[in-house]
Amino acid sequence: MDFDTPLAEAWVRAIAAAVEKERARLTDLDSAIGDGDHGSNLQRGFAAALTALDGFQPAGPGAVLTKTGTTLISKVGGASGPLYGKAFRAIGAALPDPAGPAAVAEALSAGLDAIRLLGKAAPGDKTIVDAWTPAVAAFRATAATGADLPTAAAAAAEAAEQGARDTIPLQARKGRASYLGERSIGHQDPGATSTALVFRTLADITTT
Ligand code: ADP
Ligand code: MG
Repeated sequence: MDFDTPLAEAWVRAIAAAVEKERARLTDLDSAIGDGDHGSNLQRGFAAALTALDGFQPAGPGAVLTKTGTTLISKVGGASGPLYGKAFRAIGAALPDPAGPAAVAEALSAGLDAIRLLGKAAPGDKTIVDAWTPAVAAFRATAATGADLPTAAAAAAEAAEQGARDTIPLQARKGRASYLGERSIGHQDPGATSTALVFRTLADITTT
C-alpha cells in the first residue's frame, strides 16, 4: 500500500471525525491548563478543510495535505491552527505521488521540522512536539526495517499516544500552559493529545 490521493483524503476525513468525537475531551484538557478552546479550534479547522476539499481536484496526495494546512492556518485562531497548518503544508510539499513508507517518513519529518521552526518548542516543553517527535521517530525506524505503511503508522500511533501520556508530569515551557508554571504539572497536554489522534487515524485508515 502506498500513500496516494484517496488515502490522503481519507486521512483528513478521519481526523475531522476523530476531533469531532474527541472535542469535549480536548476542550477539557485545554480548560485545565489553557483556555478551553483546543477541541473547538481543531473541530472548526478540520471541518473547514473538508469543505475546502469538496470539489477540489488535487494533483496528488501532497496537494490534499497542502490544501488542508492552508485551511487550518486561515480558519483556526489558536496556536494549534498555524502549527498544524504549517505541518500539513510541509508534509504536503514533501510527499511524492504515490509515496511509500520511507517517503512518508521523510514528509512527516518535514512536518515536525515546520512545527519546531514556527513554535520554537523543544521535546519536554509539554507541547505537540512531545507527541510528534516520538511518532516521527517510530514511523521512520519502522519504515527503515522495510515494514509496510500500516505497520509504520501503527508504530507511530503507539509512540504518539505514549508521548502524549508522558506530558503529564512535565511543566509547560511554551504556549498558554506555560503561564501556569508548576501548576501545569499533572495534566496531559491537549495538543499532544490531538497529535495522538492524528497518528491513530492514519494507522486506522491504513489497517482497515
Ligand atoms: P491556544 O493555546 O492559542 O488556545 P490551542 O488551545 O488550540 O491554542 O492549542 C494549544 C496547544 O498548542 C497546546 O496544548 C500545545 O500542545 C500547543 N502549543 C502551544 N504553543 C506551542 C509551541 N510554541 N510549539 C508547539 N506547540 C505549541
Ligand atoms: Mg487553547
